[in-house]
Amino acid sequence: MLGLMMAEPLRVAGILEHAAKWHADTEIVARLPEGGIHRYTYAAAHRRAKQLAKALLRLGVAPGDRVGTLAWNTHRHFELYYGVAGIGAVCHTVNPRLFPEQLVYILNHAEDRLLFFDLTFLPLVERLAPICPQVEKWVLLAGPEHLPAQSALPGLCSYEDLLSAERADYAWPLFDENTACSLCYTSGTTDQPKGVLYSHRSTVLHALAACLPDSLGCAALDVIMPVVPMFHVNAWGLPYAAPIVGAKLVLPGAGMDSASLYELFESEGVTFSAGVPTIWLALLQFMREGHRQFSTLRRTVVGGSSCPPALMTAFEDELHVTITHAWGMTETSPLGTGARLTAKHKGLSAAESLPIRAKQGRVVYGVDMKIVDDEGIALPHNGMAFGDLLVRGPWVVRDYFGSGTPGELTADGWFRTGDVATIDPDGYMQITDRSKDVIKSGGEWISSIDLENLAISHPAVAEAAVIGVPSARWAERPLLIVVRRPGLDVSAKELLAFFKGKVARFCEPDAVEFVDQLPHTATGKLLKTQLRKDFAGYAVA
Ligand code: AMP
Repeated sequence: MLGLMMAEPLRVAGILEHAAKWHADTEIVARLPEGGIHRYTYAAAHRRAKQLAKALLRLGVAPGDRVGTLAWNTHRHFELYYGVAGIGAVCHTVNPRLFPEQLVYILNHAEDRLLFFDLTFLPLVERLAPICPQVEKWVLLAGPEHLPAQSALPGLCSYEDLLSAERADYAWPLFDENTACSLCYTSGTTDQPKGVLYSHRSTVLHALAACLPDSLGCAALDVIMPVVPMFHVNAWGLPYAAPIVGAKLVLPGAGMDSASLYELFESEGVTFSAGVPTIWLALLQFMREGHRQFSTLRRTVVGGSSCPPALMTAFEDELHVTITHAWGMTETSPLGTGARLTAKHKGLSAAESLPIRAKQGRVVYGVDMKIVDDEGIALPHNGMAFGDLLVRGPWVVRDYFGSGTPGELTADGWFRTGDVATIDPDGYMQITDRSKDVIKSGGEWISSIDLENLAISHPAVAEAAVIGVPSARWAERPLLIVVRRPGLDVSAKELLAFFKGKVARFCEPDAVEFVDQLPHTATGKLLKTQLRKDFAGYAVA
């Protein structure tokens, strides 16, 4: 027997429609890449998203067509999220930090018909256009006054011209909630990038889960500034979660440096933010240098790479901002786990709870996970056994876009994350490594993440990476590669001594090398494939 409830399909446009009606005058504030601050409301954003929808239809965009964006976190990018998906087309967010060859691959593979780009990326798109012939029209996300005097970009026009030609008298169409709404490619450090095609259903369910208190925990009282970019995994769902709850949304545009972020945190009264560890490490340095404090920021979610416990402690003790550690992937929309405490941890001091909060955390409802050994047999949740992390759920990828090959699913339908993890009896998952980065030494596995976290807790270390280097006796041994904090000195000998007694003897790094900077992927993760190349043949003295 079927239930007798309304079968209204979940649609992304429904979120903005809700915000425009019930949180009409709540603000969206954006720093514009072309300069200045733009300020309007959810009601106004909804009107402009409808104008955009009509413009897209006029340009012949059909359901299922991919519309690309090369854009920062701005109100126009927000409108594209809703306007493109609202007509049943696919908003394909492209990460401008990828290498040009990856960008060309992605734009051609996705077969984007239109491409919307910020002024910052004009030189980049002028180089890409001749090798991306399927893009029929390039749209500059600015007013016509910013259009170049001369350009060979096909169909070039300004976004504001496109919108001003339309009225907002448009009703969002109804369609199957499993219709695709957005597309994001993984950053692919070894293989070609792979497209994850989200649906309206997966996006709305994920956004609702993002609002849950132990997840991102968004509320109408919040002023939310996603530092995590809208060009990668939909800024962790915040551009959907904020309008669901009616929180003010602050979008930092191209100003991703610490000074610009801090200025916006303060001027807009931001209470909650989210981003990768690199952003917060840089911000911590900036705050310390200027003896600065946040007036309103109270909470931030850190994920995308392992959050060093030392960073959590510094933010909490020095800046009075709580860090929640979270884990996810492009393939999981991205939210998978968050490391908030449970009732049984009541009464623990911050120091006592740190080892729990430093883990990647417990699953968000909707996601299920398990760890398995090489034979696919489930391992116990004892916090010690580690194995391949598998996940499943309504916002986890089933297959990659246009791959022509089966995805990463097991025969019984679990997604292989490629991460190696433990799960403790309370359900807190901890990532030890990407499976490709695990160091195997004398039959034991060494977690590079544990060693990196420890290294970064040394006062003279700004950033650290650990990779395995060949060893005749042990197969592999850990090499620590360090960027020193400006103005501070530390020797290899001192750093090696720092590990003594803090990790098992066999896990201690064998050697330390100092570098000026570490290579990162387009999403801010340590690029260990590059480090392994740079240190190929490294012999421990
Ligand atoms: P991406 O698809 O670019 O978002 O990358 C996903 C990968 O980032 C995961 O499979 C993990 O290897 C890594 N990752 C994400 N969050 C964390 C975290 N909190 N700690 C450690 N690794 C993480």
